Amino acid sequence: MSFVEEFVSRVAAVAGGSSLGLHEPLFKGNEKRYLSECVDSGFVSSVGAFVDLFESKLKGFTGAEHAVALVNGTAALHLGLMATGVRAGDEVVVPALSFVATANAVVHAGATPHFVDVNVATWGLCPVALRQRLIAVGIRNGDILVNKQTGRRISAIVPMHALGHPAQIEEIMDVAAEFGLVVVEDSAESLGSFVSDRHTGLFGAVGVFSFNGNKTITTGGGGAVVTRDADLAAQIRHISTTARLPHSWDFDHDQVGYNYRMPNINAALGVAQIERLAVLVALQRNLFLQYSQALEGFSGGNLKKENCGASSNFWLQAFLLDESKAHRRDEVIESCIKSGLKVRPLWKPLNSLTPFLQSPSASTPVSESLYQRAICLPSSAVLGSVR
Ligand SMILES: *Cc1c(COP(=O)(O)O)cnc(C)c1O
Repeated sequence: MSFVEEFVSRVAAVAGGSSLGLHEPLFKGNEKRYLSECVDSGFVSSVGAFVDLFESKLKGFTGAEHAVALVNGTAALHLGLMATGVRAGDEVVVPALSFVATANAVVHAGATPHFVDVNVATWGLCPVALRQRLIAVGIRNGDILVNKQTGRRISAIVPMHALGHPAQIEEIMDVAAEFGLVVVEDSAESLGSFVSDRHTGLFGAVGVFSFNGNKTITTGGGGAVVTRDADLAAQIRHISTTARLPHSWDFDHDQVGYNYRMPNINAALGVAQIERLAVLVALQRNLFLQYSQALEGFSGGNLKKENCGASSNFWLQAFLLDESKAHRRDEVIESCIKSGLKVRPLWKPLNSLTPFLQSPSASTPVSESLYQRAICLPSSAVLGSVR
């Protein structure tokens, strides 16, 4: 058997014959019941008991003091950046290897992403590369850090926990403190992932989750911000609901707001999903073990493993080809797809995308190399059930 055939057959041993997409949701709990309760109540839109219940369950699971449920993860990043003081004209550090929404949200907040490389072991923002870059381009001007090449203020860092695997968030927080920068944690993929018993998203000033259809749990579309800061939470709640001042009948608004609150019908689905979050994470961890067994002894690369000192939700399983096999990535992907296995490459590095070609960037060889070598494997939770 050729290298490519052998890879396809080993992946098929776990995911073959399922015709599942890359990551499909699993509805085995109270989803239908809560959705029909929600419809019967008449409250399907921007107010309702399921939104409060979903927020309280999210706080319970993560240990966050405050949670605000929003329409999607991108909107949550946008408001998280605004509320923590990112202003139009600022620069915000973003890992070069992330889903495009991380950088898009920075632009939505009026700022410019500034790309830094990721770590070869964690696949998340590299604290060493981050510090080197800030030393190389940053200059202090009173309280603020200015990029001496562009003249813009650097105000925040948005680390991302790639594929659910926690980045080196404690080291990143230290660098942020050293340079006086705020951290908005893009934890969109890492609900259920921890670093030394603390949930991802609780290290930065705010953390952001996504409940899109392909994430660990889904609300159809949805997102949330978590924070320990009551004022930040109140501010985000306020700007997400048109910045309307509380009044029993009058319409008065104290700034330009957004319509970003999660509808009750989405929260109803979310409550049923979050009730089964621990089960879903266990299935994903079991799926990792299945792939580990199926790919054991396969020479040509390695499955992405859990990062040191971190507990991962294993949201998306990925295989990293050795450098000597990188030139065969497309052939591997195409053969898998032909055999009905819905694999995908990793995201193209953000600093190579058309909208960000003019954005400042450090050199990003690790992001480039991971992009050229990684293959994301079918990762629906149902595949992790013992069959
Ligand atoms: C999914 C995702 C988002 C955006 O979430 P949406 O709910 O799709 O807007 C942001 N960042 C990362 C890393 C993601 O994977």
